[in-house]
Amino acid sequence: MTTITNHMPTKELQALDAAHHMHPFTTQTELAARGARVITRADGVFITDSEGNEILDGMAGLWCVNIGYGRDRLADVAARQMRELPYYNTFFMTTHVPVIALSQKLAELAPGDLNHVFYAGSGSEANDTNIRMVRTYWAQKGKPTKKVIISRKNAYHGSTLGGASLGGMSGMHAQGGLPIPDIHHIDQPNWWSEGGDKTPEEFGLERAQQLEQAILELGEDRVAAFIAEPIQGAGGVIVPPATYWPEIQRICDKYEILLIADEVICGFGRTGNWFGSQTVGIRPHIMTIAKGLSSGYQPIGGSIVCDEVAEVIGACEFNHGYTYNGHPVASAVALENLNIMQEEGIVDHVRDVIAPYLKTKWEALVDHPLVGEANIVGMMGSIALTPHKESRATFAADAGTVGYMCRERCFANNLVMRHVGDRMIISPPLVMTTAEADMLIERATKSLDECYAQAK
Ligand code: PLP
Repeated sequence: MTTITNHMPTKELQALDAAHHMHPFTTQTELAARGARVITRADGVFITDSEGNEILDGMAGLWCVNIGYGRDRLADVAARQMRELPYYNTFFMTTHVPVIALSQKLAELAPGDLNHVFYAGSGSEANDTNIRMVRTYWAQKGKPTKKVIISRKNAYHGSTLGGASLGGMSGMHAQGGLPIPDIHHIDQPNWWSEGGDKTPEEFGLERAQQLEQAILELGEDRVAAFIAEPIQGAGGVIVPPATYWPEIQRICDKYEILLIADEVICGFGRTGNWFGSQTVGIRPHIMTIAKGLSSGYQPIGGSIVCDEVAEVIGACEFNHGYTYNGHPVASAVALENLNIMQEEGIVDHVRDVIAPYLKTKWEALVDHPLVGEANIVGMMGSIALTPHKESRATFAADAGTVGYMCRERCFANNLVMRHVGDRMIISPPLVMTTAEADMLIERATKSLDECYAQAK
């Protein structure tokens, strides 16, 4: 068998990859025809491919490498922990020091009385936990019919059966018979695409009020919780109008339904506060976390739970758990990641320095002939590509084609930007400098120019 190394020719690596590796969210035949881009190393905000190209990672991997690549401290902590205690579980009345320390740190960072953490290996697993947790909570409170979780169309909450059911992506529902029962979806607050003649404020209110209508239609005695990201990420970085979240909070309070904030992307500094819930001013009962928790250096996720829910769940045996709940190496790395974020003031850097700097430049992209809307909150931004700004038209035939074309131009210009249909999105590492932000804008503009010339 061949020993596979970084030094093999790209074509050989690509052929072996396509032969044996099934990729997520990929058409395998296209992959076999074109070959995957092989990433070999990374440092700071840059990744390097097997051809030696240094690429600005405008997506921080998959929205996760918040403190940037190449952090020796995280590698050292992982090696130390692997030697001392590489694994032990937290089932059946056992625990270990890294998970105790991480839980204490998360309770300190999370707002309000979100003081308790149930761990998982990923954001998807954590959202599966949330489904069982909220249903168990209501059953324990003597209201077992309260099972329905309301979510939103075009939301992304993961790829497990539970996560994909909570998500509102029709392509995901179509494969495997989803959603599971008792998940209900309302419309998203995407003013640019769906707002018609309404002002953003009117539209935000109207979309939030769909939650109230759904509760009344389904029956108050059946609705357990509402789940949403403070700012929708994988759906295309949809920034809700200012009227949206206050109205959602009012409705959750009025009908006493649990509010789950999916902070998998928005958490850990991405929006300029530790959590997106603080940025949009909501008080969730549960927050889903993953990604930035360890800056992607280890797979770890979880649910941060408020006192009341934790107390009710804690009174029964919660028959739920994963072998890697609170894994010692992942916990130690996550804790060190959070220590670094605090020591280097990374959330302050986002709020006071890099996000305001990037915002000015990003929003100016709206002057480009191909761009209809440019939104950014903290370090997550999107632009909507349009053939006609005034009417907020989309590229009707083959939606996503121009976005795909733009993403390919970005790659060619050594920039990673992702496309969701005809929206281009960014979520760069939070440690980005102003010079690197300039580079991002310069490469994005060049890519848009080339795409405009091609699309005309
Ligand atoms: N929730 C949100 C908001 C996400 O963006 C994601 C992943 O992108 C998930 C959940 C699922 O997390 P994971 O991929 O770690 O399972």
